[in-house]
Amino acid sequence: MHFVEVILPLSLAKTFTYSVSEAEYHYIKKGMRLAVPFGKSKIYTALVIDIHQNKPTLYDAKEIHQILDEKPIVTEIQIAHWQWIASYYMCAIGDVYRGAMPSALLLESETLISQKTTTFVDESQLTDDEYLVFQALQLQSSLKIHEIIAILNKKNIFPVIQKMIDKNILVLQEEMQESYKPKLVRYLKLHSKYDSNQGLSELLETLKNANKQKEIVMAYFQLSASEKKPITVKKLVDAAGSTSAIVKALIDKEIFEDYLLQEDRVNFTGKTKEEQLQLSVVQNKAFEEINNSFIEKEVCLLHGVTSSGKTEIYIKLIEGYLHEGKQVLYLLPEIALTTQLVGRLRAYFGNKVAVFHSKYNNNERVEVWNQVLNNSVKAQIVIGARSALFLPFGNLGFIIVDEEHEQTFKQVDPAPRYHARDAAIVLANFHKAKVLLGSATPSIETYFNAKSEKYGLVEITERYGKVMMPDIKLVDLKDKYFRKQMKGHFSDVLIDEITAAVSLGEQVILFQNRRGYSPLLECMTCGHVPQCQQCDVSLTYHKHRNQLRCHYCGYSIAKPTHCHSCSSVDLTTKGFGTEQIQQELVTLFPDSKVGRMDQDTTRGKYGFEKIIDGFKNREFDILVGTQMLAKGLDFDNVSLVGIMNADNMLYHPDFRAFERSFQMMMQVSGRSGRSEKQGKVIIQTYNPDHNTIQQVASNNYAGMYKEQLYDRQIYKYPPYFRIIKLTLKQRDFDKLKEGAMWLYQVMSQNLDMPVLGPEEPGINRIRNEYIRTIIIKIPQNSSIGGTKKTIQKMLNSFDAVAQFRAIRVSINVDFY
Ligand code: ADP
Ligand code: ZN
Ligand code: ZN
Repeated sequence: MHFVEVILPLSLAKTFTYSVSEAEYHYIKKGMRLAVPFGKSKIYTALVIDIHQNKPTLYDAKEIHQILDEKPIVTEIQIAHWQWIASYYMCAIGDVYRGAMPSALLLESETLISQKTTTFVDESQLTDDEYLVFQALQLQSSLKIHEIIAILNKKNIFPVIQKMIDKNILVLQEEMQESYKPKLVRYLKLHSKYDSNQGLSELLETLKNANKQKEIVMAYFQLSASEKKPITVKKLVDAAGSTSAIVKALIDKEIFEDYLLQEDRVNFTGKTKEEQLQLSVVQNKAFEEINNSFIEKEVCLLHGVTSSGKTEIYIKLIEGYLHEGKQVLYLLPEIALTTQLVGRLRAYFGNKVAVFHSKYNNNERVEVWNQVLNNSVKAQIVIGARSALFLPFGNLGFIIVDEEHEQTFKQVDPAPRYHARDAAIVLANFHKAKVLLGSATPSIETYFNAKSEKYGLVEITERYGKVMMPDIKLVDLKDKYFRKQMKGHFSDVLIDEITAAVSLGEQVILFQNRRGYSPLLECMTCGHVPQCQQCDVSLTYHKHRNQLRCHYCGYSIAKPTHCHSCSSVDLTTKGFGTEQIQQELVTLFPDSKVGRMDQDTTRGKYGFEKIIDGFKNREFDILVGTQMLAKGLDFDNVSLVGIMNADNMLYHPDFRAFERSFQMMMQVSGRSGRSEKQGKVIIQTYNPDHNTIQQVASNNYAGMYKEQLYDRQIYKYPPYFRIIKLTLKQRDFDKLKEGAMWLYQVMSQNLDMPVLGPEEPGINRIRNEYIRTIIIKIPQNSSIGGTKKTIQKMLNSFDAVAQFRAIRVSINVDFY
């Protein structure tokens, strides 16, 4: 008897046993994928984690359908790491597997497949099976895998589909919405019919009487001989001193072909400027301190103020690891930042930089997956957001977690709810690799670990090139309103500073941590505020569309003309968001161009880049945005940053509110004054004396840390306690209430530690489901593993109670 143990890409904690033939038994290796039947009639892509001869006792092992790989595509370290994630973050191993793999590698019977309309298909090149699938897709826009099984009349079809995806003929339906693809650059090449020498002489013959066209063709040959990289239309026109009309004529004549490439995917073959990177004395000192700390410690924190040149230090460190032949992983909190960084890194490392993130399409992701797996030159450095952590590194030497304090490193939904920084440290451990955490405003937890010497600590307190830290000015809103020195939401001070900056041709960033026009529409007669029908939140007013929208579920209605409660027409808006700031700016500064960056303006694959590039290219003078602005963007012409209202961040009901407000304000401020000139920051607030605001104004990270750490200890929060948050959801309010109480009581009786709840969160209903939370605080000195086991047991008994079965419980370990 021969068996394999597999993980299925489903929310199941167990692994499953399937039977294989003896030949298969000897062929299959851990980390290969198999197509296996599961349930009544479904097929999934399973991952082999063991090969053995132990017959399962509880069920008859089914036979596998097919082996999908010739060699493992997942490494044993990955499997071990994923198992750690499942166990630490209390989720199913199937959830981790599903979240880790590009979906094109996880075909299943329900996967929807469509034809890629932009690819020309040469039918004569298709195999019989491929042809049948292709034909079927001429009649239907999409097919499910199990329908294809019926069409081909065989079970083993995953390889056929995979091939067709690789050939760009098919795509997964989920990607069909991918609507943006700017950043495409038009390139030229000689038509393939001129590839041979004979073709060339024919070509020159054709052009005998067309001198201008011939010039371009000659210029093309010269360029392609000297540059050895794709040639843009622009480049060719410049080189030949010609016009694009003539190039077009050549394309029409089928002498040239044009094609589009996404800019960041173009192979880089230009000269690298490695030798030009000169660290300053301060940077060099930090560089050496980091290397020294790595002699003894696995993890080091680089705490360097904004614009201290941390990226250059990373580059220098990366260089060392590449020399040793190691792979490097560079994690960023936000995929939108990759474009900027890729450019900077390619300048030094050329083609060795690969990018991986969830907005890439499947082909791109599979490509990077394979490059990493094969330790290909092209993926020596992988830049990505948190999911890049799951790639099949075989030889990882170094991980950088840039902006380590960012909460986007923590996945919220769905499971696995992992923290990429912490999971990266564990991954590094498996590889015996080093980790560098970088931030101008480290998280309290990380700084605590550094101060207690668990991590190394290297600090830089000055900016690169001796640029001064920005000058931060506080404006007291209470006073300004009282003295009638406000226009809309702008104080006279802010208006003057904007005027001054813009008149010097400098750019301005305005930060408002809310999107929309103004959050609320309120009835002046009865005080009624329109609510979402499905969620416990007020609707947000979006002037641009004249709509009220729910930011939680997307529900929207047209802006009402009268109050739904008392019919009064006296409605007013309350509070303000980015859209309103933008409107006010248009009135206050009619001659300036204003851009806006928030969730509403950055939808789509490249939405974010479009705005960043636009701002960098000085297409607008003033950029209004939400916290997206706070994430390590490097602008060279911004001399003023305005924070419209510091208070709504401070008063979030969250133990991290002050820490986050501090980080956010410091980071946004850091965008100001990156050239020789000292930048300015204006913070408008009703609470100029608030400790956190004072700490920001005096650039006092240490003070913030000390105060927050004290609070964390008193109120039992990280780093002194680990937090596990349970979220219970159900449509039936009473059942949920009862279930939450039951669970809370069992937990508080059985756990020798603080258990809080069951709490009604600030927003207690989303998409018609009611919500209750329970928080468990595990003290530093008790066993986390043991506690989690106890919690799991209690959750199992909870599930066993019939009337609670409909309640969904999600677990968030190290809740952020
Ligand atoms: P941080 O990431 O610490 O905020 P950056 O790495 O973005 O800072 O550096 C700030 C600016 O200083 C960037 O424009 C960068 O190109 C420049 N810079 C930093 N170090 C150097 C260096 N050694 N040589 C040249 N320019 C540098
Ligand atoms: Zn009313
Ligand atoms: Zn809603």
